[in-house]
Amino acid sequence: MKLETNLTAIAQKSITDVLENQAFVEHLQQLNAAEIDDAVYELELKISPQIDCTQCGNCCKTLMINVEPKEADIAALHLQISRAKFDETYIEKSVGGKMLISKIPCHFLEDNKCNIYLSRFAGCKEFPALHLPQIQKRLFTIFMHYGRCPIIFNVMEALKKEVRFEWKGDASIISQF
Ligand code: SF4
Ligand code: SF4
Repeated sequence: MKLETNLTAIAQKSITDVLENQAFVEHLQQLNAAEIDDAVYELELKISPQIDCTQCGNCCKTLMINVEPKEADIAALHLQISRAKFDETYIEKSVGGKMLISKIPCHFLEDNKCNIYLSRFAGCKEFPALHLPQIQKRLFTIFMHYGRCPIIFNVMEALKKEVRFEWKGDASIISQF
């Protein structure tokens, strides 16, 4: 299977295929949750190693990262600065008081690589989170990133084939999953 890694093409497809993807989400919600989790897990295992995140970096360039206080302590230690300096330099607070990295692209992205990689935050480590269970409950979030992340894009396109989803311009769906 040829993978699509062109970010412009992927972003474009997320716009042109919005109705198809809505139908696909509705379709996935009718299927067995555990089987969907297994299928996505297997596809992610196969596809993810074929995509070089250092050639992409699009999540670090486009997402606002949440930081927990303990993670900020670790990152400050890594950077050998005080926690107060770390907060002042890299953090802003959301309306609800959550700590967020204050810049997009992320402060720590350099030449498409994370310069605090070993101390990066939980959200960074988890993304795109296709290895985690309960995919059915997270489809909204997954498709929010479909046009941004080549791993998500290619896994979802492969999943359409695996569950024999067919889009015919309406809600026409075939599945023998
Ligand atoms: S901390 Fe590192 S991995 Fe996380 S968004 Fe920033 S550059 Fe990316
Ligand atoms: S996780 Fe997705 S968006 Fe982030 S660098 Fe890798 S392929 Fe790109």
